Amino acid sequence: MAMSNTYNIDYHAISEGNSTLEFAINDELFAICQSPEILHGDGKAVFTINKNGNTAKANVNIITTVVSPCDRCLDECSIDVNWTGQTIFKLTEHTDEYDGDIIYVNNSNQSLDLAQYIYESIILALPIERAHQNIEHCNTDVTKFISTNIE
Ligand SMILES: [Zn+2]
Repeated sequence: MAMSNTYNIDYHAISEGNSTLEFAINDELFAICQSPEILHGDGKAVFTINKNGNTAKANVNIITTVVSPCDRCLDECSIDVNWTGQTIFKLTEHTDEYDGDIIYVNNSNQSLDLAQYIYESIILALPIERAHQNIEHCNTDVTKFISTNIE
């Protein structure tokens, strides 16, 4: 579990008022989340936080390039992601919950693991069709095969 510490923060370590947290998006994140869809990534996630006691609001900006198998030829193709969203961290007595808008932080351990949140946001931001923009960039062995079969 040591690996996921990169995306693990202590709620109490966030300063009251405004602050910014930055996380690298790299292969480690996709390994932690055991991603079947994303093979590599290179970018960052920036959380601009406004903390007020037990609640912290965060504006999130994710700028990254990810590498995913192409829908057409299955070769690796890279996709640019620029995603902006909001979330709320909330300290609670209850066990860890997650509902998309609010990330609940358990009062007793105060640990906030953002790996899943960052990963899911990237998946949401991906286009439905993940393919080389230009079909000429596709693996020609495969595209030749496809066009031969269509004719
Ligand atoms: Zn392709």
